[in-house]
Amino acid sequence: MRRSLVAGNWKLNGSLNSISELISGIRERQDQVKNAELAVCPPFIYLSHVQGLLQGSDISLGAQDCSDQESGAYTGEVAAEMIKEFGCTYNIIGHSERRHIYGDSNETVATKFAHVIKNGLIPILCVGETLQDREEGHTEVVIAKQINAVLDLFGVKAFAKAIIAYEPVWAIGTGKTATPEQAQEVHEEIRLIIGAQNKDIAANIRILYGGSMKPENAEHLLAQPDIDGGLIGGAALKAEDFIGIAIAAN
Ligand code: PEP
Repeated sequence: MRRSLVAGNWKLNGSLNSISELISGIRERQDQVKNAELAVCPPFIYLSHVQGLLQGSDISLGAQDCSDQESGAYTGEVAAEMIKEFGCTYNIIGHSERRHIYGDSNETVATKFAHVIKNGLIPILCVGETLQDREEGHTEVVIAKQINAVLDLFGVKAFAKAIIAYEPVWAIGTGKTATPEQAQEVHEEIRLIIGAQNKDIAANIRILYGGSMKPENAEHLLAQPDIDGGLIGGAALKAEDFIGIAIAAN
C-alpha cells in the first residue's frame, strides 16, 4: 500500500517571518489530514529554521536540489551530505526549472540522484515534457529518456528508495493542469518503465503529480490509481491550500 505524499516546493520564496507563519498555519490544520504524509522543501538557507519549526511534528523536511559535487572549490554549491545534516528526508532533483533555466542535463540529474541516495536522502526525481514535446507526440520518449538516464547508470535498485514526480512543464506555475486522465496515462507509463526491470519496485514506488495542483482539482487527480500524491508549488505557500490538497488525498 503506497501512502500519499504531499510535498511543498517553496522555490525561491519566503522570509524568516513568512515561513514561521506558514509552518504554524500548516501545523494548526494538520489534524484534518488523515492519510497523506506532508513534506515541505524550503530554500537551503531556511532549512535549519524550518527544521526547528517542525520539531515535534511528523511533517518531513526536504531540499530543492543539491550539487553534483561532493565537496571542494565549487562556489555557491550545497552538497547532499550538508543537506542531510539538517534533518532532511527528501531532496527534489531534476525539477524542470533546474533543467530548463540552469541547464541540468539528464546526466547531471543522474549524478545528483546518486549523491542524494549515497547520503541517505530520498530523491524526488522530477520528469516531464514540454508543450512542444506533447504536441509532437514525444511525451513518452522524453519521460523514458529522463528515467533511463538514472536507470542505466545505477540500476533499478536505486529506485527502491526513490520517488518520481511527473510534472508536465506546460502545467507548472501556469494554472493549466493535466487532466486526471492525461496524468494517469503518464504515471502508468512510468510504472511500466520501472516494472520492466523490477515489478516489486514498480508496485511500491510513489509517483507524484505536479503542475498547478490546487484544492479544487486535487481530488480527481489523487483518485487516479497511479497517482500517489502531489508536488505542489504555488499552492504550497498558503497553509489552507496546501492542507486542502492533502485533505483531498483522504
Ligand atoms: C512545481 O514547481 O513543482 C510545481 C508543481 O509548481 P506549481 O504547483 O506552482 O505549478
